[in-house]
Amino acid sequence: MSVKVGKAAEAPSFSTAARGLLGDTQLRHNVRHATDMIRARRAHVVGETPDWQQLRDSARAIKDHVLRHLEAYLEQFETACTAAGGKVHWARDADEANRTIVDIVRSSGATEVIKVKTMTSDEIGLNPALEAAGITPIETDLADLIIQLGSDTPSHIVVPALHRNKAEIRRLFMEKMKLPELGERAEDLAAAARRYLRERFLRVPIAVSGANFAIAESGSLCVVESEGNGRMCLSLPKVLISLVGIEKIIPTFGDLEVFLQLLARSATGERMNPYNSIWSGVTPGDGPEAFHVVLLDNGRTEVLDQPETRATLACIRCGACLNICPVYRQTGGHAYGSVYAGPIGAILTPQLQSMKHSQSLPYASTLCGACADVCPVKIEIPEILLHLRGEVVKGRGAPFGEWLGMKMASMAMAKGSRFQSAQKLLRIAQKPFVQHGMIERLPGMLANWTRFRDLAPVPPESFRQWWAARQSKEAK
Ligand code: SF4
Repeated sequence: MSVKVGKAAEAPSFSTAARGLLGDTQLRHNVRHATDMIRARRAHVVGETPDWQQLRDSARAIKDHVLRHLEAYLEQFETACTAAGGKVHWARDADEANRTIVDIVRSSGATEVIKVKTMTSDEIGLNPALEAAGITPIETDLADLIIQLGSDTPSHIVVPALHRNKAEIRRLFMEKMKLPELGERAEDLAAAARRYLRERFLRVPIAVSGANFAIAESGSLCVVESEGNGRMCLSLPKVLISLVGIEKIIPTFGDLEVFLQLLARSATGERMNPYNSIWSGVTPGDGPEAFHVVLLDNGRTEVLDQPETRATLACIRCGACLNICPVYRQTGGHAYGSVYAGPIGAILTPQLQSMKHSQSLPYASTLCGACADVCPVKIEIPEILLHLRGEVVKGRGAPFGEWLGMKMASMAMAKGSRFQSAQKLLRIAQKPFVQHGMIERLPGMLANWTRFRDLAPVPPESFRQWWAARQSKEAK
């Protein structure tokens, strides 16, 4: 099996990548501005939903139920989809999924494909695989088009080009679409993209889509979007291929009621997405003549096997945890080295890769808990981060300095008298390093501890000493 999450296996560690990005003030301004706007809209629409907490509870209960019975629901989906005229393909990993999709495109004779809502295709590296087979992928979501034209990588799971501002996009469109003139307003940029894409929608006979939800009882797929390009991709081409992670299953059509309310509000701060497309199989004379679903594992069943972290698969990719995360808001998404950025990326990417790569990601968090507070499916991200940190240490062993420090601390704390002596010693030893009431830099092997944080010094007296002094004062 070759599980792949974009280029995450070769990406530099989070701290290395973040250090470079923190110097890009324009990028940081763009990320903060965009996430502030989405957060304000989300807070408004969530505030006007009186049963928000009940919706979150329901969503989590549905997801937990599905994850416990995933095998049965996947089979139910396959049976219903096949009965409706679709063809289901199972892909164990990225290579299998890419091969399946390339084969279908080749057998249709097409040399171009249009794409919509396919973050999962970035996960498996579909575009390079198509290009290697002589097939040109064309992204049709505005943000994905910006990324593709700029040979860039996504930095947010809902708004992939969030790190770009209007001036940068205008320059890019003028250069790549060969436009001598282009207005500066958002409407002008959207109109340019519409003109560029319209002709391709009408020309290209095959589309690749993702899906937000796969409904087991009817074998239907559901995509929510804001631009209408999804409708074009799902209805105009002769052949439609949908790439779907196996965790996207929900049992019934009725369950959409819960998820559609949560997703739109959490992702973009809208009460409802402008376009909600649901389709099942093929219907002669209406839409694509052939419909393929590629159900992707790519490491998901291994995550499913881990009771401590399984809830990661409940994610509905709303991006709310990114928008609130104080770490993401400083670095943007590229520091995570994966198509999945932010808190969800920090727990999902390393797990999909069986903890072999991206081991710095579980540390890309302050553990403040804001991500868990906003998550519409109540994923306890900080708990999973802590568990994964434990796995990282178990796998590679603690660094020698840390091991030695812990050993000495354990010996000192095992006996009261030893602990008091250690405190006395530390009070003397720390003196040269205390500045403005904090230790900002430790010497030698201990320097790593203070590289990113200050250390509180040992207080001048212990609690016991303080208490004893207080008691004797009161006795007098
Ligand atoms: S973890 Fe929760 S908040 Fe983050 S993207 Fe997934 S569903 Fe949204």
